[in-house]
Amino acid sequence: MDHFLYRNGSLHAEDVPISDIAAAVGTPFYVYSTATLLRHFTLFDEALDGMDHMVCYAMKAASNQAILMTLAQAGAGMDVVSVGEYLRAKAAGVPGERIVFSGVGKTADEIRVALEGGIRQFNVESEPEMEVLNAVALSLGKIAPITIRINPDVDARTHAKIATGKSENKFGIPIARAREVYARAGAMPGLDVVGIDVHIGSQLTELEPFETAYRKVAELTEALRADGHHIRRLDLGGGLGIPYEQSNSAPPLPLDYGALIKRKVGHLGCEIEIEPGRLIAGNAGIMVSAVIYVKQGEGRDFLIIDGAMNDLIRPAMYDAHHDIVPVVEPRPGIERQPYDIVGPVCESGDTFARQRAMPPLTAGDLVAFRSAGAYGAVMSSEYNTRPLIPEVLVKGDQFAVIRPRPTFDEIIKRDTIPEWL
Ligand SMILES: *Cc1c(COP(=O)(O)O)cnc(C)c1O
Repeated sequence: MDHFLYRNGSLHAEDVPISDIAAAVGTPFYVYSTATLLRHFTLFDEALDGMDHMVCYAMKAASNQAILMTLAQAGAGMDVVSVGEYLRAKAAGVPGERIVFSGVGKTADEIRVALEGGIRQFNVESEPEMEVLNAVALSLGKIAPITIRINPDVDARTHAKIATGKSENKFGIPIARAREVYARAGAMPGLDVVGIDVHIGSQLTELEPFETAYRKVAELTEALRADGHHIRRLDLGGGLGIPYEQSNSAPPLPLDYGALIKRKVGHLGCEIEIEPGRLIAGNAGIMVSAVIYVKQGEGRDFLIIDGAMNDLIRPAMYDAHHDIVPVVEPRPGIERQPYDIVGPVCESGDTFARQRAMPPLTAGDLVAFRSAGAYGAVMSSEYNTRPLIPEVLVKGDQFAVIRPRPTFDEIIKRDTIPEWL
């Protein structure tokens, strides 16, 4: 459920007509709904009701500080995967003790910044990282709280580029070696081993892979406790999928996911963390773009729009589907025709949809890409010297630009020219 609905024949974000935002900021742009962000956060928070828990938003999904603040004020913690994200979360007012630090390649510098600034825990992904973390902590006279990310060798049954829990993936420590690695960590004076971490992938549309992974985490918890470790926190990762096609079957609900967590690990008495990203931000954002040309090709028509793969790379990168809807509501029963919907970038991969049935559209018409709130704006680039597109946040009948479109001057001035030229 989201808050992007037609009212009086035009698409709205909550109470704001999309066409008003387009008139104010120009196209293309991203717009997020506060009510949808909060609703999704609350679904997770309530799904873990009765357990000691923290919902740590995986901010790589959409990391604008206004989004972080909206969620943090509702009680969210943050999952960060770089020092840049850590500093961004801090800038948005999130205290260090509500930030968990994930990622396979944390550098000594990144670790130092987080230890000095305060951190809830590091989710350690390898033995060399463990050694660096121990050394940096000791050099600062601190003790670093850690979990170790285990790789449970579970098939998440999702797109290969976002599966992370199989043994061939780069993430985590093989579960078969976990006890040995925990023993090493337990002996390091700069580390406080607080728990176990697992994250098996993204856009999971079934509960079963979670079930298998969490069963393995529960078994490992008991084994590690028997080995003498004080395991008191379980970070169960993110990954719950969202419905990208409204016509398709729905992925599991957060409530059922929460019930699964209680069933699998509730008896262990651990504090529970989860790290959802996509499910919180995905359907809370859309990308709005205008038609530049309708071009008749050989046997097919192209809608050439002003948004492109640099603004929303998911279709090019993951073969992802986004529902694309006109901002002016089509008359009921209107005849649709197939279009290839493409951007202006000089790559054939800059194709959002092939032979998509759309009502007739003409130059200047606005279209909205639904479910673009997660892994949309954050993955955008300036390829083809196209400015990063604005982000807008709506709350009720208010809207605000939360990242302005840079000018061409700003972009061009960033290059510096060597003196020999
Ligand atoms: C990306 C990521 C998440 C969030 O995944 P979603 O599918 O967006 O919920 C959570 N934890 C870690 C460690 C991640 O890398």
